[in-house]
Amino acid sequence: MKQKSAEILCIGTELLMGNTVNTNAAYLGRELAHLGVNVYRQEVVGDNPQRLRESLEQAFSRCDIVITTGGLGPTYDDLSKETIAAYFGRSLVLDPPSLARIEEHFRLLNREMTENNRKQAMMPQGCTIFPNPNGTAPGCAIEQDGKLAFMLPGPPREMKPMFEHYVAPYLMEQSDTKLVSRMIHLFGIGESALEHKLHDVMVASTNPTLAPYAKSGEVMLRVTARVTQGEDGESLLAPMLETVRQAAGEFIYGIDIGSLQNAAVQKLLEKGLTVATAESCTGGYVSKRLTEVSGSSQVLGYGVCTYANQAKEQLLGVSHSTLETFGAVSSQTAKEMADGVRRLSGADIGISTTGIAGPLGGTEEKPVGLVYVGVSSKYYNHVLELHINPRGDDAREYIRYIASSHALHQLWKAANMA
Ligand code: ATP
Ligand code: MG
Repeated sequence: MKQKSAEILCIGTELLMGNTVNTNAAYLGRELAHLGVNVYRQEVVGDNPQRLRESLEQAFSRCDIVITTGGLGPTYDDLSKETIAAYFGRSLVLDPPSLARIEEHFRLLNREMTENNRKQAMMPQGCTIFPNPNGTAPGCAIEQDGKLAFMLPGPPREMKPMFEHYVAPYLMEQSDTKLVSRMIHLFGIGESALEHKLHDVMVASTNPTLAPYAKSGEVMLRVTARVTQGEDGESLLAPMLETVRQAAGEFIYGIDIGSLQNAAVQKLLEKGLTVATAESCTGGYVSKRLTEVSGSSQVLGYGVCTYANQAKEQLLGVSHSTLETFGAVSSQTAKEMADGVRRLSGADIGISTTGIAGPLGGTEEKPVGLVYVGVSSKYYNHVLELHINPRGDDAREYIRYIASSHALHQLWKAANMA
């Protein structure tokens, strides 16, 4: 079967005016590529039926699939459905299940449903409806004469789950091949160093392919294989996973694990261990990220933020002379903080952070970005010294985030060694 091609059409005057960044297009581009759909163009059009109609006509003159976002809401400027239905020569008809869901939505919020909300339950005749549990406007798909249009809501928190739960399976069903993939998560190696190690493999790989992704201090490798229905994807993926392990195994902390905090919590649960955190420069970032993970209450009991020297002394028992001699931002203090919170909590592993997040407070000897991460446990005691390059227009946030990532990685490592 010939490979399908698609265009992404984002609708909204606020996108044209630069009031909203078009994150939907980026998301859809990524996801469609991953599904093996060729995306040839992205376009933004304002809330104007005539120009939307023109854009649709042009897009369908070039490709088979058009995915739109935005303009499904209840207000007068939300005209996507009317315009797209009209393009296919269809009228809008009331969809009672959608209306019932919208009514229920308002009942749960204890808010009066205004008449214009009914409009959201008016759907193009003969379309496939996608319910929207995160908002009111349902999405839909219309298929006619080899053309396929998807209409998705504008708000990303509504659009993404709808894509994942309805659009992706819909597209996959149409294809006689499917993609299977694994995301390999690595920490402690930069994207370029990783690419250097695996460059030849990446360039030569066709099925499966190997592609790097980087995001805020972490790198990932996606291994993707295209298989025909019934073919075993796992056996295609396995040799490539092995190649990556050979080249960079020491940096891998998980496969399809989602995040460092997920990996850390999962490892602690697996080993039946607990952790306590004592944070200075990260101000609670490490415990915040741990508590993002469902099930973290079984592994995290204490997370203290000891920002002042006095708190480090009184609460954690860091010695006065350590603070006097070496300062709060020092390897010695990080060690005593981690030991202290472990003692205080009775947890198996204590994790600490202390550093200079800037922009003020740096000295020649202790510059902004200097951070110590302490680990205290029966199996693994360590203080990591980091020199985080202050980057971007919010370097303080960046330093704190990267420091918390290292702390989570150290925690994972300690649990892994136990
Ligand atoms: P609603 O029911 O909220 O009106 P809608 O489907 O009509 O949803 P729009 O009115 O077009 O969608 O957009 C609603 C909001 O969704 C926008 O104010 C914006 O915050 C966000 N949004 C819309 N399009 C995009 C996009 N392409 N990328 C990121 N955010 C978007
Ligand atoms: Mg709207």
